[in-house]
Amino acid sequence: MTRKLFVAGNWKMYTNLAEAKQLAGAIAKGVTTDAMTVAVCPPFPWLTTVAEVIKGSHVKLGGQDCAIEKEGAYTGQVSAPMLLDAGCQYAIIGHSERRHGLNEKDELLNKKAHGALAAGLEVIFCIGELLAEREGNQTESVLERQLALGLAGMTAEQLKKLVIAYEPVWAIGTGKVATEQQAQDAHAFIRQTIAKQFGKPAADGMVIQYGGSVKPDNAAKLLALPDVDGCLVGGASLKPELFLPIIQAGVDVAGKKSS
Ligand code: PEP
Repeated sequence: MTRKLFVAGNWKMYTNLAEAKQLAGAIAKGVTTDAMTVAVCPPFPWLTTVAEVIKGSHVKLGGQDCAIEKEGAYTGQVSAPMLLDAGCQYAIIGHSERRHGLNEKDELLNKKAHGALAAGLEVIFCIGELLAEREGNQTESVLERQLALGLAGMTAEQLKKLVIAYEPVWAIGTGKVATEQQAQDAHAFIRQTIAKQFGKPAADGMVIQYGGSVKPDNAAKLLALPDVDGCLVGGASLKPELFLPIIQAGVDVAGKKSS
């Protein structure tokens, strides 16, 4: 089955307003095809501005997190309806910088994902093991737990609006990229686990991004792997001269994968 490749840029807490406009403009100009999906996820305060800049282009917009509730007394949080109103199609949920930096647990992330989907957003749901877990041969059990708890209560139908981002925590922002074997093995394992939980059609249709130090020099090989359907890019998404070649690698690979 051919899955549409999906490359998303996570700008994290980087860029000022002028930089965000410039970066969004350069990416919007540089993406000239719908052969694969491309999204950018700027900091919340820049969402509406970036939405204006990318309007009419092939680039889509995402938020970097999403609250469980639609509205209420939740100081500092941003809800799914707000993201939609700002022009977002996606929300990243469960990024390791929130799982481990802000101690967000599987059960909370499950509620966030349910909330986002119910409101009409698509979810980029991040999972991945710590270095100690990989070294302790626990990668598969960690992924299994994150999928079982994170996707609990979802239907195969809902999963059509959810993308998994496999991001080994030791590879995020470290320059240490997973080997092709490590990435393919983890992605194949995730797909098998989804098949057990939700059935084979759901697993076959599931877009699974790789994330962790993706750069122009490693993107093509990672994206060509049979179970890798895109990537979630942090550092390299902040520079058009790095992000656009990654997208181009995806476009080239998409052509090969669909032929
Ligand atoms: C990320 O933020 O999801 C990420 C993968 O970061 P980097 O590409 O910088 O490793």
